[in-house]
Amino acid sequence: MALEKIYNKALELIPLNEKEGVALYKEAPLEELMFVADKIRHIHNPGNNVGWIIDRNVNITNICFSQCTFCNFCRKKDSPDAYITTTDQYIEKISELYALGGDQLLLQGGMNPDLGLGYYVDLFKKLKEFYPSLKLHALGPPEIVFLAKREKKSFLEILTILVSAGLDSLPGAGAEILSDRIRIIMSPAKATTEEWLDVMRTAHRLNLPTSATMMYGHIETLEERISHLIKLRDLQAEKEEDHYGFITFIPWPFQDEGTRLREKHGVRSSYNSPDYIRLIAISRIILNNIRNIQASVLTVGKETGMLALHSGANDVGSIMIEENVVSAAGSRNRFSAEDLQSMIMEAGFIPVRRNQKYEPV
Ligand code: SF4
Repeated sequence: MALEKIYNKALELIPLNEKEGVALYKEAPLEELMFVADKIRHIHNPGNNVGWIIDRNVNITNICFSQCTFCNFCRKKDSPDAYITTTDQYIEKISELYALGGDQLLLQGGMNPDLGLGYYVDLFKKLKEFYPSLKLHALGPPEIVFLAKREKKSFLEILTILVSAGLDSLPGAGAEILSDRIRIIMSPAKATTEEWLDVMRTAHRLNLPTSATMMYGHIETLEERISHLIKLRDLQAEKEEDHYGFITFIPWPFQDEGTRLREKHGVRSSYNSPDYIRLIAISRIILNNIRNIQASVLTVGKETGMLALHSGANDVGSIMIEENVVSAAGSRNRFSAEDLQSMIMEAGFIPVRRNQKYEPV
């Protein structure tokens, strides 16, 4: 397939099809992909700004019925180290976040069968009462699917109730790879591909800001990676023009250390730095309607993160005060606010602190 023709199509922001995406992934020289992706990044984000944020990840509970095979974080209810975060712990953690100058809380699962909609409504209201300026980037499509089934309500009803209780934006958690072939092996109890997309479609209708993610480098094929990106792009194309939709796309590689996927099924992470850069560049090229692409410096580290900024990424995410799911599977990178800013400058860009809607603050 003529690569130049595909590059030109991409540079005109014309959606590529799966065959073209796969051809780029398999055949294009990396430096050409980086060049095209960087040009498209500048179409969406003129100038040299690179975003970063101070936020904090707090896990609501580590009890999760889903038991995804790549997750070291989840526990069964009767496990000695099972927990549900207490109000005092939230206050301690949020106070630390405020002391560092942040006001966004990333509140994530697991999916504890004992915690229903009422629990989350009370929690969100209580946190907003204590900290009125707090922004809640919370839960994700699998939790919304779980709550909808538990409460016998539609996704629209669940999201509307959570937004009234204080939900500010919905993370794209639990996407992994949007293919049911993979989900049956990796996370059979979690939202299906269609359910994940449908929750996001509903969130976009409500104009709730969302993010899109991908966890790659396990059992998926290159075709499935491309198909994942195309599903996200097509869903984004459905949203009202003035609605937020997916504000950003964040891919990260599977971390295999101690996971059942590795121990029981022998699946090792296929991560390597050039492939990550290729993925970032391809994502920028295929996702012609998502403005921001975040380099996951927590998982890939400084050097690869800096290269990603020349390959289509325009954001490095947050300093990491606390993160449990990725770090439980082997990620050891830590970044302070100073580290992130000097990394961005070292890569030749201007650090701009932003909020969760990717607006400069
Ligand atoms: S990845 Fe999330 S949904 Fe899956 S088992 Fe872990 S906490 Fe539960």
